[in-house]
Amino acid sequence: MKQNNWFDPFYIQSHLSEDELRIQENVREFCEKELKPNVIEMNRKNQFNIDLYPKFGDLGVLGQTLKTHGGSSTSNLAYGLVAYEFEKIDSSYRSSISVQSSLVIHPINEFGTENQKNKYLPELISGRKIGCFGLTESEAGSDPSSMKTTFKEVNDGYIISGSKNWITNAPIADVFIIWALEEKKDYKSIKGFILEKNFKGLKTSQIENKTSLKISPTGQIILDNVLVPKDSLLENTNGWKSVFSCLNKARFGISWGVLGAATECWMIAKEYVENRIMFKKPLASNQLIQKKLSEMQIEINLGLASCLLTAKALDDGKEIINAISILKKNNCQKALDICRDSRDMLGANGLLEEYHVMRHLVNLETVKTYEGAEDIHSLILGKNQTGISSF
Ligand SMILES: Cc1cc2nc3c(=O)[nH]c(=O)nc-3n(C[C@H](O)[C@H](O)[C@H](O)COP(=O)(O)OP(=O)(O)OC[C@H]3O[C@@H](n4cnc5c(N)ncnc54)[C@H](O)[C@@H]3O)c2cc1C
Repeated sequence: MKQNNWFDPFYIQSHLSEDELRIQENVREFCEKELKPNVIEMNRKNQFNIDLYPKFGDLGVLGQTLKTHGGSSTSNLAYGLVAYEFEKIDSSYRSSISVQSSLVIHPINEFGTENQKNKYLPELISGRKIGCFGLTESEAGSDPSSMKTTFKEVNDGYIISGSKNWITNAPIADVFIIWALEEKKDYKSIKGFILEKNFKGLKTSQIENKTSLKISPTGQIILDNVLVPKDSLLENTNGWKSVFSCLNKARFGISWGVLGAATECWMIAKEYVENRIMFKKPLASNQLIQKKLSEMQIEINLGLASCLLTAKALDDGKEIINAISILKKNNCQKALDICRDSRDMLGANGLLEEYHVMRHLVNLETVKTYEGAEDIHSLILGKNQTGISSF
């Protein structure tokens, strides 16, 4: 009998190198052993265990695509697979590696000086230090150019003033990538800086009442005339292009990650309906239920196939900005639909913590919003298609 490849109809696994297969397998084992057993408890307590960072470092998933400073020198495809496995457990855990890799290690590596790279990258890649990325402000979300945080050059460095809000890891971070505007008479320019938690005037607080992505610490950063030394400036930043280079790297990981959450919910629903007897037969024997399972299979596999093509293009050095917006928008929406259907197929039990689907569903509401809300990606795609910006 021919093998039934319902789980991987496009033979995605056959496109992975031995290294990529091994990385995925190792990470899956790590997630099952280290993250899954207490995910419900950590979510209930809004708690993140910072001792996980050195373990992520040992696993080689922080700044994993870097070839220097202790990076694992993996492909971008392997980074996508890691995000997929982490988000099967919880979007918070995928966020913790995405932020450290794409939003902290990446800008230091791309825009930093040799001194900055030598000082920060080994610590961040090993997980001995935790980083965060401060772009969003209370009044500047989808439109970060309206930010109020400014910097001005003084004799012994720069003074940064303002505040950031909704920043992943802010309450636990040692290293802060902060984006600020220089306001001159006729222009504003954006620059990135590396700050440290003990800089005078830098304070953080935690958002305690979050109902989504509860394991991931999120907070505010207050920058009260923080005097930073000259060598805090990320010298090679090149305007907004540099900001978007970080965001696009993170969005690539998210596009893979959300399909991990969706796969988990699909598998939970499948097992449940195969075992749940209603009207004297398994729920899985009903056509309406099979239709839902098939839709999950279709959307997840179409999403994964597109992620695979995008990863290969990225590894070949191609420009992927349109693919990134397509995947961020579509995969988040499809993953939300799948988790919601899964919740429905479990009936009342779908509301229970131990079935995980409700936690995934609520987490994905965050993932849909951050890194460019869903509609913002439509606007990016519309602008690129028509040449007309509607922002
Ligand atoms: C848990 C969590 C963690 C986060 N972590 C980070 C982080 O580490 N670093 C960081 O810098 N930020 C972070 N963010 C912030 C996130 O990136 C912003 O929330 C996001 O950019 C949206 O901004 P906003 O919440 O202000 O929504 P708004 O920009 O106010 O948008 C609200 C709604 O209006 C829509 N909208 C906006 N403009 C338009 C328009 N022109 N046309 C049509 N519709 C429009 C949006 O699509 C959205 O639906 C995080 C957010 C969350 C929830």
